[in-house]
Amino acid sequence: MKKALFLDRDGTIIVDKNYLADPMQIELIPGAVDALRVAVDLGYLLFLFTNQSGIGRKYFTMDVVKQIHERMLELIGLPQPLFTDLCIAPETAEEPQIYRKPSPRFILEMIHKHTLAPRQCYMVGDANSDVMAGANAGIKSIGLTGPRLKLEALPPEVSDTLPVFPCLLDFIRHLQN
Ligand SMILES: [Mg+2]
Repeated sequence: MKKALFLDRDGTIIVDKNYLADPMQIELIPGAVDALRVAVDLGYLLFLFTNQSGIGRKYFTMDVVKQIHERMLELIGLPQPLFTDLCIAPETAEEPQIYRKPSPRFILEMIHKHTLAPRQCYMVGDANSDVMAGANAGIKSIGLTGPRLKLEALPPEVSDTLPVFPCLLDFIRHLQN
C-alpha cells in the first residue's frame, strides 16, 4: 500500500489565472518545486487533480491542457514521471458532474488503480472544492490559505479539523517533521 498526495494545480502548484490556456502564462508558485522534490523524497506518489471547466465551456481543449502540463513539468524540472497520474475534470459546474471536485471519484479510482493506502493519502488545495473532494473520498484534506478557501462555507465537521497552511511547501515541511 502506497502513500500519496493529490495536488490541486491552480493556486497550489502554479499561480491561478482564470482559464489558463497559454503555456507561456504558467507561473510556478514560490516553493512549489522544493515542495514537490521533498514530497517525492518522502516516498509519496503524486497525483495532479485539477478542475478544468474551460474544456467543458469550449474555451480550450484537453490537448491544450496537456500542453500546459508538459510545459509546467518542464518548468518544474524534476525527474519524470513526477506525477503518477493526471486527473483532469473537464465538466462545468452546470453539467452533470462525474469527476469535477468536490466529487471524490478520481481519488477513489486512483486509490483502487494504484493500491494506495487511504489513511496515508492527502488532498491538498486552495479551494473548498479541494477540501471537500478529500473529505468525500475519506482521505485527509489540507487547505491552503487564499481567497478560494472559505472555512465558514464548509461543513463544521470538516472545517473544525482542517489543517490550513500558507502554501504547499509549508505543508510538506510539516510532513517532513
Ligand atoms: Mg486551486
